[in-house]
Amino acid sequence: MSEIIPNKAVLSIKEYVPGKSIDQVIREYNIKNPYKMASNENPFGISPKADKFIRKYIKKAFQYPEVSCPDLREILAANLNIDKNNLIICNGGDSVIYNIGITLLNSEDEVIIPEITFPVYEIISKAMNCRIMNSRIKNYRIDLDDILSRITNKTKIIWLCNPNNPTGSLIESSSFGNFIDNVPDNIMVVLDEVYFDFADKKKFPDTVKLIKEGRKNIFIIRSFSKVYGLAGVRLGYGIGSRDIIELIYRVRIPFDVSVLAQAAGIGAVADEKFYKKTIENNLKEKDYLYNELSKIGIKYLNTDTNFILVNMEKDAYDIVERLLRKEVIVRPMKSYNLPHFFRLTIGLRKQNKRFIKALKEIINENI
Ligand SMILES: *Cc1c(COP(=O)(O)O)cnc(C)c1O
Repeated sequence: MSEIIPNKAVLSIKEYVPGKSIDQVIREYNIKNPYKMASNENPFGISPKADKFIRKYIKKAFQYPEVSCPDLREILAANLNIDKNNLIICNGGDSVIYNIGITLLNSEDEVIIPEITFPVYEIISKAMNCRIMNSRIKNYRIDLDDILSRITNKTKIIWLCNPNNPTGSLIESSSFGNFIDNVPDNIMVVLDEVYFDFADKKKFPDTVKLIKEGRKNIFIIRSFSKVYGLAGVRLGYGIGSRDIIELIYRVRIPFDVSVLAQAAGIGAVADEKFYKKTIENNLKEKDYLYNELSKIGIKYLNTDTNFILVNMEKDAYDIVERLLRKEVIVRPMKSYNLPHFFRLTIGLRKQNKRFIKALKEIINENI
C-alpha cells in the first residue's frame, strides 16, 4: 500500500492555536458576557467609517475585487508618502508574512527568529523547509547583537517583530540604525510593525524612509486589524522595494482582498477621529493598568503596544482559567514558552476595572 506523502516540513509544524473566541468561551464555560482581552482587538469595535464604507460597497460584492486594490493603495501610498509600487495589500498581515516567506525562501536557507515572538514566522519558514536559528531574548527584549552573531552565508531572512508580540518591547531607532548597517545586503530584514500605531513615534525607527531612499533589504508589514478594529475583515499590507513587491505579485493569491475589505480600508484610513480615540484610550488605560497592577504587587513588562504581558511569577495556567470563569478572557503564554505569564489586551476602563477586580479576587482566594 502506498500512501500520500506530505511536504515533510509540514509534519514538523505545530498548528497555531489562537486565543479562545467569545462564542467558544460562552459555550465551554457557560457564562454570559465575557470580556475578550486576549487577541489585541480594538475595544471600541470597528471604525465607524469602515462600517459605513462596507455597507456602501456591499452591492459590488458579486464582482471579483481588483487584485491591486487601486483606490486603497493610492490613499495608503499618499498617507505614507511613498510610491504605490512600494506597496502590496493582502488578506491581513499574516498573509503578507506568508507571501514574503514564499517569495524569498529556498530550502537551503536559514532564517533568524527571536526565541520569543509571533509564531507565524516560524510556521512559514518551516513550511519552506528552512533551517530556523533562534536568537536569544535578553531581559524580555530582542537582542540585536545576538541576531548579528548568528548570521551565516546561508541566512536569507531576519524576522523582527517591532514592537514585539508578546513582550511589547520596542527596538528604538538608534539601535535599529546600528543593526541595519551591519546586516549584509543579501539578507532581508522583515519588520512586522503591526503594533506601530501604539508605539512611541519619537523612538520608532523610520523604516519607511529607508525603503523610500532605495534600501532593498527591508520589508515592512502593517495591519488594519488592531488600530482600526478590522481583525475580522482581514486586511494588511507590505512595504518594500519595487522589485520585491513585483515578485510577491507572482505568487500572491489573486483575489485575497475582498471588495468589502478594500472598502473597509478606504473608510478606516479616513477615520482619523477613531484612530485618535483608540490611541488615546490605549495610552490612558495602559497607565491605569500599570498603576493598578503595581498596587497589588503584580509584575508586568512595559509595553509599546495595545497589550501587556503580565508576570505571575509562577505557572499562570490556573489563573487564566479562573479569570475565564470570572468572564475575563486573557491569553495564556505557555505556547510562547512563557508559562508564568499571560497577555492582556488593554481595554476600555470598564473592562480593565473588571479584569483588576477579578485578579484581586483570585489573589485573595489564595492561589
Ligand atoms: C495580529 C498580528 C499579526 C496579524 O495581523 P492580521 O493583519 O490580523 O493578519 C501579525 N503580526 C503580529 C505580531 C500580530 O500580533
